[in-house]
Amino acid sequence: MTKSSLPMLDNFLTNDIVHASWCEVFPERIAQNLRLARGLLPEGAQFLAVLKADAYGHGISRVVPIIMEQGVNYVGITSNSEAKAVRAAGFTGTVMRVRTATSQEIEGAMPEQVQEQVSTLFTAQMIAGAARSGAKIAGVHLSLNARGMSRDGLEIATQEGRETCMEILDLIGPHIVGITSHFPSNTPVDLLESDRQFQDDVDWVFAHSRLQRTDIQVHAGSSLSLVSDHKVTTDIFRCGAILYGILKQELGFRSTMELKSRVTNITSYPKGSTTGYDRAIILQSDRQLANVSIGYSNGISRVFFGDSTVLIHGQRVPILGKISMNTITVDVTEIPDIAVGDEAVIFGRQGGACIDGPIMERQADTIMADLFADWGLRNQRIYIE
Ligand SMILES: *Cc1c(COP(=O)(O)O)cnc(C)c1O
Repeated sequence: MTKSSLPMLDNFLTNDIVHASWCEVFPERIAQNLRLARGLLPEGAQFLAVLKADAYGHGISRVVPIIMEQGVNYVGITSNSEAKAVRAAGFTGTVMRVRTATSQEIEGAMPEQVQEQVSTLFTAQMIAGAARSGAKIAGVHLSLNARGMSRDGLEIATQEGRETCMEILDLIGPHIVGITSHFPSNTPVDLLESDRQFQDDVDWVFAHSRLQRTDIQVHAGSSLSLVSDHKVTTDIFRCGAILYGILKQELGFRSTMELKSRVTNITSYPKGSTTGYDRAIILQSDRQLANVSIGYSNGISRVFFGDSTVLIHGQRVPILGKISMNTITVDVTEIPDIAVGDEAVIFGRQGGACIDGPIMERQADTIMADLFADWGLRNQRIYIE
């Protein structure tokens, strides 16, 4: 289909394709959020930009140049494809994996010189083996649980854990460049306790190894600990969420993504009609309903059935009926001049109205990081310069 043969869909004809739904991404806001976040760093602390989940759905290749421009020397990834994308974008600094990896992943990421986390003997043996066979090890981080997440850190509260720790240190001590943990909660009281526990465990490691504090980066902070009143003891803050403006808007951080779609159909239905699957809604009066071309396959999951809204003509209109795979139905009775092709804002601003983070988190029953990571993969991304 050529541009001229399309009906009156005014804009967003990117590469002659009309997108049913799309994420608008604002790179300049990411840059500004990064500036603000780095301004909050305590003296001497480093900033690591967490770019996992394709930079929380924003497109890792587009985000890497932004962080390079501001001289950020540390990047966090999870998958090998992200590590490749970061190097392909020209980043020469430290790439750290922010979870533990399989041996296949570790081996596959050797060309990208990814710093891995180690919390088991198995991983330590694998890395020691690679080093013996001549592989260049980029540096590893000893990952401690510190009575925290019990996700992938080594718990050294037990005798068994301490013995494992000693064995890991024996095997790969010289490759260790960092000691890390990830805290489960950022309430001030919990953070204080996590910080203390981690520092105690770190002290134990230094006391039982040849590692020197000055050679090792000890790190546990993330976005929420950077903005917390309790300043955690950390050499590096590993931050994702804060780059994408999904917390502390009162400090000037701005959301970096909006989610949009279009009205594809408008029809009137009489009182008593049922709407959507399972006839879950019965119209109490004559209504004008519209379809918007976004559904659960685009990250508007079925939990949006209830009291969720979207913006059309700068007004909040309710979603009616259960969410379909590629479409939702909204009640537009209050918007008489609505037309097919009109823009619907699922997340973001339109006119004077806004569906912001707190509203969206209630509607979706999850956090914005989850939604951004999902939407960015399930909808066309359009960068707004
Ligand atoms: C995701 C992640 C972070 C970043 O967390 P944010 O809350 O998004 O800043 C830091 N460290 C680890 C280990 C992570 O998995």
